[in-house]
Amino acid sequence: MFPVLLPTFARTDIAFVRGEGAWLVAEDGRRYLDFGAGIGVAAFGHSHPALVAALTQQAGKLWHTSNLYRVPGQESLAAKLVAHSFADTVFFTNSGSEACECAFKMARRYHFVNGQPERFHIITFTGAFHGRTLGGIAAGGQEKYLEGFGPKVSGFDQVPAGDLDALKAAITDKTAALMIEPIQGEGGIRPLAPDYLRALRKLCDEKGMLLIFDEVQTGMGRTGKLFAHEWSGVEPDIMCVAKGIGGGFPLGACLATAEAAKGMTVGTHGTTYGGNPLAMAVGNAAMDLFLAPGFLDQVNKTANYLSQQLGALAAEHPNVIESVRGQGLMLGLKMKVPNGDFINAARTAGILVLPAGDNVVRLLPPLTLTEAEAREGMALLSKAASSFETKAAAQ
Ligand SMILES: *Cc1c(COP(=O)(O)O)cnc(C)c1O
Repeated sequence: MFPVLLPTFARTDIAFVRGEGAWLVAEDGRRYLDFGAGIGVAAFGHSHPALVAALTQQAGKLWHTSNLYRVPGQESLAAKLVAHSFADTVFFTNSGSEACECAFKMARRYHFVNGQPERFHIITFTGAFHGRTLGGIAAGGQEKYLEGFGPKVSGFDQVPAGDLDALKAAITDKTAALMIEPIQGEGGIRPLAPDYLRALRKLCDEKGMLLIFDEVQTGMGRTGKLFAHEWSGVEPDIMCVAKGIGGGFPLGACLATAEAAKGMTVGTHGTTYGGNPLAMAVGNAAMDLFLAPGFLDQVNKTANYLSQQLGALAAEHPNVIESVRGQGLMLGLKMKVPNGDFINAARTAGILVLPAGDNVVRLLPPLTLTEAEAREGMALLSKAASSFETKAAAQ
């Protein structure tokens, strides 16, 4: 019989019934330290009291009205995002993919209203991930996601990340924008040099192209700044965020400057659910937590401790872990053993971690991780790494 759930996921056979901060509790009562945070979504861990209160209070008042009417929560959250970023304007979505779609459309439309409709090509970078819509898989350019889904949406060109000459060669008079993740997430926690990002900004300014940052994974405090591009000092024209922004409630956003957004007039884009009152109640409460004085300092403190300890772990197990990379609480272990084997060993030890491309184990713990939890996490990861040494010794 065909599975009642479309079998597109390789799920681990565990179901969780409860979340408490950085911990998840499974059906059988076993507790796991969650260094995956639902793929970087549960920025404040599970069941954060402020988010639970915001959602349940709103649930008793009003769930949904549509964007046919004003949604006051959108106005307040957009004002906060604008006040703390390069952007002038915000479009709310339910996911990262929709935030990326909004960015693609906005970039094309910008050149259209400038009288250059032929400029619709967006250049992206190898190893990129921009979601699973038809536009997203064309932008990501990964054969494994494109195969069998018909002709790739036209207008997406790809160049190797970090290679400025290849990029310059790929730019034509049809290029509308460059789109890049400041640190590739799904691709394997691959950071880009700040100099490279600055070079992208300069190229965009010279050629009248828009710079789009996909900060769906890197944004919202994940790297120790509210947005990862702040580390480089380079500002985009358009930015996609999602994942952590709703702390677990489905929410995304496309942010832009007034100039980049000038083509997005009434009727050019829309969404039924995007920015609905439930999402906005949680989003506003989450934003207040992101912006609380000292919050990002604490993220950086935890991150420094973790990356230092992970470095020591890699040095202790040179046959298991090759190197540590990433920034803030977006960390990757480049593995010598298959990343999936390590993820299974970690889960057996009691800690959940994520895979990423390039044989990387990805760590995206809640940003609220305490020092004690970080220490406990290191002990569990050390146990997982040691299990490979005993295996090797037994062979
Ligand atoms: C997760 C992710 C997306 C897609 O987000 P969904 O919510 O799964 O649609 C897009 N871009 C990046 C960089 C991501 O990490």
